[in-house]
Amino acid sequence: MGDGDVRRATFCRALRWLIVLAVTTQAPRCLAESSAPDKKYSTESLRGKVVWLADALKERFDIKTDDDAAHAVVALETAEGRLHPIVKDARGRCFYTDQRLRDIKIELLVRRYEGSPMVQVVRVYRLKPDGKYELDYWCDVCSIAMYELKQCECCQGPIRLRERLVEKRADRGARDAKP
Ligand SMILES: [Zn+2]
Repeated sequence: MGDGDVRRATFCRALRWLIVLAVTTQAPRCLAESSAPDKKYSTESLRGKVVWLADALKERFDIKTDDDAAHAVVALETAEGRLHPIVKDARGRCFYTDQRLRDIKIELLVRRYEGSPMVQVVRVYRLKPDGKYELDYWCDVCSIAMYELKQCECCQGPIRLRERLVEKRADRGARDAKP
């Protein structure tokens, strides 16, 4: 056995070890994924205001976005200045289509998916001096809730933005909360 054969044998042994190591360290992760396929996100609450991401990038970092991307993405901007881009889907769409929901004090319950920079909205709350209000849209005729500003899914009539007090601010003791 020459020097070359010894080196090759050593290399092969090392390679085998690497493969064994890779397989054994991968295995638990695969098992965990297959047993809990829905747990690829964490849920968290974020507070701040929703803004167009392009405006925030310009203001905070002097980044000029293309004109056609000015209103492409909204983000929650926290008081600390962190930007969390929001997925435009059934729950996040309201921030894209209703300007009343932007630039006000908001708390969002969101899902953050591992590896994704965007957050997915689960619930929307408005923070007012007297407490926390859950936001959605409501048709007074059909008594149904919707999650974006549009004509009523049922009667095609107008719907209204609904604010329901869910948590009074303890230190203010507000009494004039509307349902
Ligand atoms: Zn209706």
